[in-house]
Amino acid sequence: MPPLLLTPGPLTTHPDTRAAMREDRGSRDPAFTALDASVWRRLAGLVQAEDPDGDWVCVPVQGSGTFAVEAMLGTLVPRSGRLLVAVNGAYGRRMVEIMERLGRPADEVLIPEEDAVSPEAIDAALAADPAITHVAVVYSETTTGLVNPLAAISGIVAARGRRLLVDAMSAFGALPLAEALPGVDAVAASANKCLEGVPGVAFVLTRRAPLLASAGNSPSLSLDLHDQWRRREKDGQWRFTPPTHVIAALSTALDLHAAEGAVAGRGARYAENRRVLVSGMRELGFEPLLPDALQGPIIVTFVQPADPAWDFERVYAALEARGFAIYPGKLAACPSFRVGCIGQVFPDDLRRFVAAMDEVMGELGVGSGAPGEEGEP
Ligand SMILES: *Cc1c(COP(=O)(O)O)cnc(C)c1O
Repeated sequence: MPPLLLTPGPLTTHPDTRAAMREDRGSRDPAFTALDASVWRRLAGLVQAEDPDGDWVCVPVQGSGTFAVEAMLGTLVPRSGRLLVAVNGAYGRRMVEIMERLGRPADEVLIPEEDAVSPEAIDAALAADPAITHVAVVYSETTTGLVNPLAAISGIVAARGRRLLVDAMSAFGALPLAEALPGVDAVAASANKCLEGVPGVAFVLTRRAPLLASAGNSPSLSLDLHDQWRRREKDGQWRFTPPTHVIAALSTALDLHAAEGAVAGRGARYAENRRVLVSGMRELGFEPLLPDALQGPIIVTFVQPADPAWDFERVYAALEARGFAIYPGKLAACPSFRVGCIGQVFPDDLRRFVAAMDEVMGELGVGSGAPGEEGEP
């Protein structure tokens, strides 16, 4: 039995989702074309439902989530525009790097990884520089598990007459967007996070007007959202080979998402997973990096215990032998590890995980999960 993936993706998927990949489908077969169209229509429908007066379309992109983020920034930030990126983790930093590679360096607002992006800091940066036309922010920073105050940020950006581009990779499908949408032009996400599909396809949900205005803007052929969308509008075909199996799996994953109560239902299960995980781990002495108010329901970062018997590699292997895969930390500031709450993972799985962690600590002689005092290694 493969371990249960307590990671930020790829995730443990539903057997029906995996079964949808058993059939080979021709990309020009009418049955596939219909299935394909319905997937992107339903995804656009999820945003449209949160913003009934908006005019949203979904443009798919082959590849992992970063491909969609790069396509969004490269296509939707006009050549005459300037981007400000809010950075409080690795995914914010990645957007800065993307803009550097595109030869259109962004400005950045740097925030410590354990702090939320402050709408006031964005406001000050926008007030100081009228050349900035767009702001990019990560909704759920998977580096730490922190959920940024998207609605407040969006409100500030809109009030300053600028537009917001969102990396909602580890949020879309489980966290609401409605309150933030007025200031948002586009949202990038992928199949294999909260939608619980398999990896291989990503997408950008964008308002129609900025997409229409972006012709010729992208410096990349394969990541040109405007071209990709135009071709699909013309004859329903992808420009380049579509990941047929992955799209079929995403279609089934969307059925399961709807059956669970869509964004609200899925978000509620993840929140319960997090509650069970955090309370169980606290009983073993562990402390999450983030205060509860900033901790999102997607993934939890725990500070490495001070007990010298703790050895992440050994803990990882012993947990894997018991059927659980966890995730290493990604923090500059302190050693840590992460446990994901997403995928086909349920509160009872997290109870079993905490019991397995307890056993592993006994086996390795780790007395407590408690982190050291501030300043200790
Ligand atoms: C997963 C993720 C991405 C995309 O990562 P890929 O490895 O390219 O799929 C981007 N941003 C955030 C916040 C993520 O969690």
